[in-house]
Amino acid sequence: MTARGLAVFVVVPLLVWAAWVHAGMPTVTHDGRLYVELTRVAASLQKTKLDASAASTRAHLRTGDRVVTLTRNWAQVLVDGKPIVLDAPVRVKRGVWLVPESFVDRVVPTLTRVASVAPTEITLEEVRVRSYPSFTRIVVETSAPIAHRIETSGPREARIRLSGLAGGTHAEEPQDGLIAEVRLERAGADGLLRVVYEGAAGTIRAITLVDPPRLVLDVARPVEPAPRPGRERLTPVRTIVLDAGHGGHDSGAVGPTGLMEKDLVLDVTRRVGKLVEERLGIKVRFTRDTDHFVTLRDRTSLANKERADLFVSIHANAHRETATDGVETYFLSSEATDSAARQVAALENGVVQLETPPGRGNGKTDVVKLILWDLAQSEFQMESSRLAEVVHDAMTQSLRISNRGVKQAGFYVLGGAAMPAILIEIGFVTNPREEKRLKETRYRDEIARAILTGLTEYKRNWDERTRAAVEPAPVTRPPAGRQQ
Ligand SMILES: [Zn+2]
Repeated sequence: MTARGLAVFVVVPLLVWAAWVHAGMPTVTHDGRLYVELTRVAASLQKTKLDASAASTRAHLRTGDRVVTLTRNWAQVLVDGKPIVLDAPVRVKRGVWLVPESFVDRVVPTLTRVASVAPTEITLEEVRVRSYPSFTRIVVETSAPIAHRIETSGPREARIRLSGLAGGTHAEEPQDGLIAEVRLERAGADGLLRVVYEGAAGTIRAITLVDPPRLVLDVARPVEPAPRPGRERLTPVRTIVLDAGHGGHDSGAVGPTGLMEKDLVLDVTRRVGKLVEERLGIKVRFTRDTDHFVTLRDRTSLANKERADLFVSIHANAHRETATDGVETYFLSSEATDSAARQVAALENGVVQLETPPGRGNGKTDVVKLILWDLAQSEFQMESSRLAEVVHDAMTQSLRISNRGVKQAGFYVLGGAAMPAILIEIGFVTNPREEKRLKETRYRDEIARAILTGLTEYKRNWDERTRAAVEPAPVTRPPAGRQQ
């Protein structure tokens, strides 16, 4: 475990936490329930006066000629003296009055008949669906924070109402063994998100995030027991997904005499796959084995569907200074090691622009946002850095090539992988000397063998750790001695 790896591991969750706390989120969680700040509710209503001091037991919300009386720790509120019962009590937390989400659904509509809600049209930005081994994540990104309600969660499908979502529909068929279809339809003034199951129903957990505003629904697979800490990854390495970068209309980097990254890496990746299957007896899946275009998202989705144990993406590098050479290996991080690492990530992420058909894109694809949206990879960061170190060592030791080091940066292609994942830049096609060498079959074989050596070492190390964790402790050793 490197100190750097540890720092990143800690920093990423902190960043997420900071975004929740500071970016003005619409809901907060208290006692496991979603609450809204009363001042926010008041701000969304016209001609409203709020009297809610931290010290008093009661708060009064006056809107138009109506008065809502709220009592600290009580689930019942009075609207002009008439009681309405909420599903959770009103709370005051650190001097801030909080009302359960049901206040927005049950009380606010009774007020808006007199004083109308400030017109805030919420539009759909995007719906994203990603499949992971134990759950499927549906993200509904909207122009402004949106209230939602899980209306039904039946054996065949779940229906989630998105209040006041104007316009925008979506239909997608993940068919990942859990969800057959995700469909966003109109339902009066709202949007209705339907999640249709393939077989048994999943369990839905919803969270609201801001910047950008979005509703994240994690649908957990049924029957599978929740992984216990430390036991989750105790299976041997069985499946590896090898990802040849680029393809089709995305040629990747191009060398001075025309060597295209997409062709080079496809050939090298195939060679690696053949060796891994023969020598390691691991099942190999390719994200592409011909010259065709694959979106970055589909690359990791495949790995997740296959429940792969490792994801290795193979690329070749480019630099405007043609003398630049060497090999570098990356694992994912929201923080780039240095500006050069950031540039490489930007170059590789640029393909996202090629994924949107012309004329349909909103022209503001923010790649870093896409990566940070999905932090599935963060829990595997430690393993990813270990894998990167081992493979990189094997390459630099056998290839007589400049060692540019193991680095971290925000690679979109690694972002969705729910397993240790690395990206190898096998050399610079923009360097005339390296381009020449990279064209040689013999050198490509050398690269493939070097990657195999790294993977072999990683697997050996992995299997050892697996055995150590599974085997019972020898009676002569105290149990504490076995802890890692
Ligand atoms: Zn590339």
